[in-house]
Amino acid sequence: MMEQYLNIKNKYKDALLFYRMGDFYELFFEDAIIASEALDIALTKRGKTNGKDIPMCGVPFHSADNYLPKLIKKGFNVAVCEQTETAEEAKLNLKKGPLKREVVRIISPGTLTEDNLLQRKNNNFLGAISNFNNSICVSWVDVSTGCFKTRNIGKDKSSNQKQLLTNFMSRMDFSEILISEDMNVDYIIDEWHPIIKKQPISLFHYQSCLDQICSYYNVVSLEGVGSFSEGEIIAAGVLLSYLNLTQCGKMPFLSMINSESINNFLEIDYFTQKSLEILKNLSGNNEGSLISCIDETQTASGARLLKQRIIEPFYDINLIQDRYDIINWILENKIDINNYQTSLQNIPDLERSLSRISLSRGGPRDLSLISRGLLGIKQISENLILHQSKRKMPRLLGSILNNLKIDYSLFSNITNALKLEVPLILKDGGFIKDGFSKELDDIRSFRNNELSQIMKLQNEYSELTKINSLKIKHNRMLGYHVEVRAMHDQSLRNFDLFIHRQTTAQASRFTTNKLVEVETQLLNSFDKAIKIELEIYNDFAFKIVEKGKEILDIVLAISELDISFMVANQSISRNYICPNISNNKILDIADGRHPVVEHQMRFSENSFISNDCKLNNEDLIWLITGPNMAGKSTYLRQNALIVIMAQAGLFVPAKKANIGMFDKIFSRVGASDDLAKGQSTFMIEMIETSLILNTSTENSLVILDEIGRGTSTFDGLAIAWSVLEHLHEKIKPITLFATHYHELTALKKNLKHLSCHKMSVKEWNNSIIFMHKILNGEADKSYGIHVAKLAGIPIEVTKKAAEILSDLQSKNNQIKQNPKKEIVKVNSKEVNNFLEEFDKIDVDDISPRQSLDILYKLKSKRQTYGKSKFKK
Ligand code: ATP
Repeated sequence: MMEQYLNIKNKYKDALLFYRMGDFYELFFEDAIIASEALDIALTKRGKTNGKDIPMCGVPFHSADNYLPKLIKKGFNVAVCEQTETAEEAKLNLKKGPLKREVVRIISPGTLTEDNLLQRKNNNFLGAISNFNNSICVSWVDVSTGCFKTRNIGKDKSSNQKQLLTNFMSRMDFSEILISEDMNVDYIIDEWHPIIKKQPISLFHYQSCLDQICSYYNVVSLEGVGSFSEGEIIAAGVLLSYLNLTQCGKMPFLSMINSESINNFLEIDYFTQKSLEILKNLSGNNEGSLISCIDETQTASGARLLKQRIIEPFYDINLIQDRYDIINWILENKIDINNYQTSLQNIPDLERSLSRISLSRGGPRDLSLISRGLLGIKQISENLILHQSKRKMPRLLGSILNNLKIDYSLFSNITNALKLEVPLILKDGGFIKDGFSKELDDIRSFRNNELSQIMKLQNEYSELTKINSLKIKHNRMLGYHVEVRAMHDQSLRNFDLFIHRQTTAQASRFTTNKLVEVETQLLNSFDKAIKIELEIYNDFAFKIVEKGKEILDIVLAISELDISFMVANQSISRNYICPNISNNKILDIADGRHPVVEHQMRFSENSFISNDCKLNNEDLIWLITGPNMAGKSTYLRQNALIVIMAQAGLFVPAKKANIGMFDKIFSRVGASDDLAKGQSTFMIEMIETSLILNTSTENSLVILDEIGRGTSTFDGLAIAWSVLEHLHEKIKPITLFATHYHELTALKKNLKHLSCHKMSVKEWNNSIIFMHKILNGEADKSYGIHVAKLAGIPIEVTKKAAEILSDLQSKNNQIKQNPKKEIVKVNSKEVNNFLEEFDKIDVDDISPRQSLDILYKLKSKRQTYGKSKFKK
């Protein structure tokens, strides 16, 4: 057995080998040590090799599903090795030694199909990256849904290409990524390194990759399929090879491979995605993210599509308008949205059932889900068609309904064949209704006869022996047997008819030739019935996979409808409106609201204060000042989120919105510590800013919040100043710029397209009230100490801070009021004294107060010396 184990393990060195022995999966040697630690299970030993114990651990096969997710989450691949011959077959072949075992599947994070290992609303993407002729391409597949796509990331400057790849990876949230072993991806974010699996270079050979794709789709060339670059073909071929390897030759059903152009989407980079909390909040959880707030889809596939839309909104006015047209049509025709949403709620996850069936991992429940689900969809489409005459149906809705128009007879047949409640496990049978197959019915009635025959035998034997308590029972070891209490043992032994099998303290068990005969017939009939049921299942499964493409088209169509009904509902329940979209350079929002903050406030007694935003070619940059807590960040983000929602084809929280197409969106908040892993907060802030300056275009939307706050006041101010000038003069994107540096407002004199705005506050009784309203003009004060009070900083500290503030302000004013303009001659002694004093400062050992004093002293000296020059 160990020899067999080692032979198999040798072929699957990169995976933990789950070696099936009886009712357990056992792991040996290094695998056992790793798995026992990862799963927190006992490490034991079995046998010896070279005098040393062989470590072993194991998990019961029926509860393997509880253990697998833990290993997969920790990034391990698991090779599942099953017994592939029965003891009877081995006997027939006169074979000695252990029964034949083979790896039937390698489970890796990117190739999961089981519902309990997957998240309902998330795709599970396996990606491959190729680098061919300096152009980076990606292909990705979700084995559990059949999605299969490629994208050419570009052949630009290599730094830009790397950035685009990083952005893309952050949006796709891959579970596993394949790259060639000679590819260097050191530049990608640390958190993705564990999911990268290096593959042999030979896998990335263009011709063999092309052959893989052609053979999968059974075509001679890809010309009829679409246009793909060489890099895309390599990446897609690598994925197919990997699937072939991990699924041990059984390939999942995949949609027709589709090449997407990077230019069709609004580009959202890694930092923006994080800072706008699109899929996760800043702490990495779902709560408070845009998706968790707006996702009111009813189907799993609808939720997955919505997520993709939000993370990669359209950059094409027609595609967006098509979506708006459907939603408006639903609203104008007063379609009963609730009714449709209830029907959609009952549509199961068809993509995942199809995938399991195609990989021979499905069961009767998948058949039932697919057939009932599709019949439910048929009903939805028939109901919608009834509204056709009311108002001209929008183009996209017409093509959606067209996709739903297929021959549903197969699914009616399946529904007719299956029992209402079907078992999960295929091999146990019992899922086909009586009356569907004559052959099966005959066997079942024969079986019922045999079962009543057993009852008859029981009565016969009881009368014969005069033992009323005699019973015919069944257990796994003896099968059907006659059982009497131990005291009647001898009575039965007196009859030749009864053959003794077993005696325990309480009972004696016997069999008879007739009972054995009936049992054998029963067993045969069970086997026959299961065989017939399996044949019926396989026939249906085959036909379903044959219709795989149509089913995936239907799923996409129904997901679009799901999102449309969701948005139509939100236009009523949340007061979201349909934006006006155009190709003009404009961001004109009346009474906009932050979707997440507003939603979170729905049970609060205060309501969210809406705000306008009006930017265009003339008024290009809004410089926003205002005290802490006044609502600057909320305002900035709400405008970015409204743009994302609009370009995703959704309605937006506003009274009115005119939105031009943005190619990229950038949002920077003064970097927080959890973003700044391994690098200083300021460094991260500068990396983010440099990305904006290097990659934004005049069609981008730039949101900058407190840029420069991570460094000293003057450095920060200077950087913020020149960034603003650069955006205004050179790049010209629509920009919202919030700052604490009131000095920046002076820029409005020189920068024609920059205007100043402030978040208004009211002072009342020595405290302040935040109005959360944006007004024209500049804020005059910071109110930092008021906010400190609100935050609960002890009163003596805030009091002292107020004194220091007034002291600093009066010194500053003095300096401002009495500038010494005359040129003062400086002698070298003075310079030496100054330098000496300067050298005495131990920067590591002074308080912030002392350092401020020093700064003021230096500043006043500089004022004193005016424009004088130091001479050596
Ligand atoms: P800081 O400069 O300290 O970062 P800020 O000016 O960016 O502060 P925000 O963080 O946007 O302020 O908002 C502060 C608080 O005010 C938040 O709790 C937010 O929920 C609330 N708030 C912001 N805008 C509004 C609004 N328009 N209506 C109601 N509440 C709001």
